[in-house]
Amino acid sequence: MSRISYVNGRYVNHHEAMVHVEDRGYQFADGIYEYVAFYNGMLLDGDLHFDRLERSLYELQMHMPMSRAALEIVVEELIERNFKQDGGLYIQITRGVARRDHGFPKRVRPALVMTVCAPKLPKAHEVAAGVRVITQPDIRWGRRDIKSISLLANILAKQEAANAVAREAWLLEGKVVTEGSASNAYIVNKKGEVVTHPANEKILGGITRDVLLRLAQDNGIPVAEKAFTLAQVEDAAEAFLTSTSANVLPVVKVDDMIIGSSRPGPVTQKLNALYTQHILMQTGKQF
Ligand code: PMP
Repeated sequence: MSRISYVNGRYVNHHEAMVHVEDRGYQFADGIYEYVAFYNGMLLDGDLHFDRLERSLYELQMHMPMSRAALEIVVEELIERNFKQDGGLYIQITRGVARRDHGFPKRVRPALVMTVCAPKLPKAHEVAAGVRVITQPDIRWGRRDIKSISLLANILAKQEAANAVAREAWLLEGKVVTEGSASNAYIVNKKGEVVTHPANEKILGGITRDVLLRLAQDNGIPVAEKAFTLAQVEDAAEAFLTSTSANVLPVVKVDDMIIGSSRPGPVTQKLNALYTQHILMQTGKQF
């Protein structure tokens, strides 16, 4: 079955899905994106992802290429045309196509492309045994809360992780762990509190993070949204990361530091169970 993508108003075969060389996303990384998981053809937390998409656009003084209701219809159609039950939806909006000039072009329509891919879930043994992450300096810009397509620093960090055969790179600003190159970072301290960086301009506020912190609070698991250091990681009982494609993934080693018992801990396992229950209730997908 051929893969279908959406490019500026048209559904096209994926290998013919192209944008103009003067798309400002291509030349300046002047755009934003979202990545949404879907199960049984239903977007997981679609409303929250669309809210974040609108916020990212607003922060860059960009506009929705179509109404949100229309976008939701196009998304549904695209998923149907790909004949996929489970997968990932990538949405990218750039400022549009214009003669290369740094300032915003006038009267240019934003460009919208969407692709659908197979689910990118962690492997069963990674969830069961936990993963290793390395640390890297956080060299990103000052507005990491915007889901910008400018991801060079994230890519370089992720590649360092791949070179070290680690699942992720946790980014360090001074001694503080901000987040992962493509995920949010957490520890569970010895008091049993889930600690994660506050959702301010220094991190991307993950949708998985938002949902998980709400689930934790609703289930009596204490949460502290405050920055934590590498020394606190070393002293932690548990660690984990979250993202749309990783769900809740236990972290058992950070650089050469073994976390807790070196096995996924009880709080992480409870949170993972709550999150998979959330997916089940919303989409019927069983993990
Ligand atoms: N931080 C960064 C830098 C990311 O790229 C991602 C994934 N896009 C996340 C956090 C997690 O966000 P979400 O839970 O919405 O996938």
